[in-house]
Amino acid sequence: MMEYPLLLRSMLDRAYKLFPKKEVVSRDYSGIYRYTYADYYRRVCRLANVLKELGVQRGDRVASLAWNNHRHLELYFAVPCYGAVLHTLNLRLFSDQLVYVINHAEDSVIFVDEDLIPLLEEIKGKINTVKHFVVMSNEEELPDTSLGRVHSYEKLLAGAADSFDFPDDLDEYSPAAMCYTTATTGDPKGVVYTHRGLYLHSMCVGLADTLGLSERDIVLPVVPMFHANAWGIPFACVWFGSKLVLPGARPDIKVLCDLIVNEKVTLAAGVPTIWMGVLAAHRQQNYDFSSVRAFICGGSAAPKSLIEAFDKEVGAPILHAYGMTETTPVALVSRPKSYMEDRPEDELYRVRAKQGLLVAGLEMKVVDDQGREVAWDGKQMGELWLKGPWIAKEYYKDPERSKPAFAEGWLHTSDIVTVDEEGFVNISDRAKDLIKSGGEWISSLDLENTIMSHPAVQEAAVIAIPHEKWVERPLACVVLREEHKGKVAEEDIIEFLKDKVAKWWLPDRVVFIDEIPKTSVGKFNKKALRQQFAAGTL
Ligand code: ADP
Repeated sequence: MMEYPLLLRSMLDRAYKLFPKKEVVSRDYSGIYRYTYADYYRRVCRLANVLKELGVQRGDRVASLAWNNHRHLELYFAVPCYGAVLHTLNLRLFSDQLVYVINHAEDSVIFVDEDLIPLLEEIKGKINTVKHFVVMSNEEELPDTSLGRVHSYEKLLAGAADSFDFPDDLDEYSPAAMCYTTATTGDPKGVVYTHRGLYLHSMCVGLADTLGLSERDIVLPVVPMFHANAWGIPFACVWFGSKLVLPGARPDIKVLCDLIVNEKVTLAAGVPTIWMGVLAAHRQQNYDFSSVRAFICGGSAAPKSLIEAFDKEVGAPILHAYGMTETTPVALVSRPKSYMEDRPEDELYRVRAKQGLLVAGLEMKVVDDQGREVAWDGKQMGELWLKGPWIAKEYYKDPERSKPAFAEGWLHTSDIVTVDEEGFVNISDRAKDLIKSGGEWISSLDLENTIMSHPAVQEAAVIAIPHEKWVERPLACVVLREEHKGKVAEEDIIEFLKDKVAKWWLPDRVVFIDEIPKTSVGKFNKKALRQQFAAGTL
């Protein structure tokens, strides 16, 4: 067989040649903007010419600080196809973390959405590798800014040629993109994606048993393009010619619901909090979501009650998936096997609430403290290890933290899981969130899931609190649905749990709060909850 490097260039080329009429829809500053993949391709070429003009060299890191919009999508292909590395910056990082990741990656240019300029102005004196800032807005005129060496995106593009000869001599292992995980302790950790990794991951995303993403789909990535490449969806959509719907700056739940209805979205992807919000809105408004074939839900555990409510009330299924920044990210997808279909409804919901089966292309094992593989009995817990062509091999310029996380050629995920007889992986906890009571583990995710099946509960997070005798005990933080606020007591929740979980799992306390704090990527922020409810403050 011929030697053929797996490069993003050929993915971009396919969109241009085969799907020039297909649309990209982008919610931008003045409303809904639409253009075709033919227009897209020409602007990507212009952008590559701009990179050249700005003096970007092969391998240089070019950063984006942007929402999910069409200009960000242009960077997604222009930068890697040019031979540089797109570093997507998480716009919700604290400013000292932003300084850290920009300096650590040694970004040479930052492309920034107009409304995010203040984030850079605040840190401009501390980022020392950046030679140019490029402001992305609808206007060619630059807004007032204290940033130096600043250019207008639209002005630069207008002045550049609309064809570009993308290099075909790149090594498929050369870096194409990178992003940092929001490590809960210490500085963020950099993960580099190669052309080959992104290519093979995109192919996997298209497999029927993964997300089955195809040309026919109309895809709304709610998950930010700075969070593990919006789960790889933009790369796959361009390659397959799927219509993309990009929700732009600060989309609220109404904006998302309207986009789904108006654009007839077939696949939407986001974290559970988003779908909890959409469900609440649907209960008020009764949106017509009949176009949707799946709401992909990942990043945190999709509660069983949410999966059930989407089937029964929304009329479109939740498809539960698991991944992490280090895994590009898709690694597990939960879909019952064909011969399981006539099992009782409740059992099928339990299966779909698990994180699922390993996707084709990866390998996994689950090991205990001694490095022995655990039995696939749905009971024994161990750490999930992964390897494969789109699993990172190290943290960028960080040998110390890479060593334990990538020992023996496997990524050690820090997720503590069980595997059942059918091979479905169920995450009990992230290692740091586990509750160890009297030497036994309590799964906070299982407890949360069960609490969230209470009809009055909107969200629930369970954390460990120190205990004199048992070392740790569970504390449940519960947000009630609007109409139930003030009407449900601590004992009601405990009573509800009694026949559903082991007695020693029952939370010592249930506290009702208005909102569960979220991390920069929309997950329950258990670290903040632990600080809030540290011993003695209850
Ligand atoms: P961050 O570390 O900032 O949360 P990542 O997206 O890389 O960013 O986090 C990956 C982690 O998120 C996984 O290791 C796992 O703990 C959790 N996770 C991802 N998907 C799921 C899921 N479907 N169910 C439970 N946990 C999940």
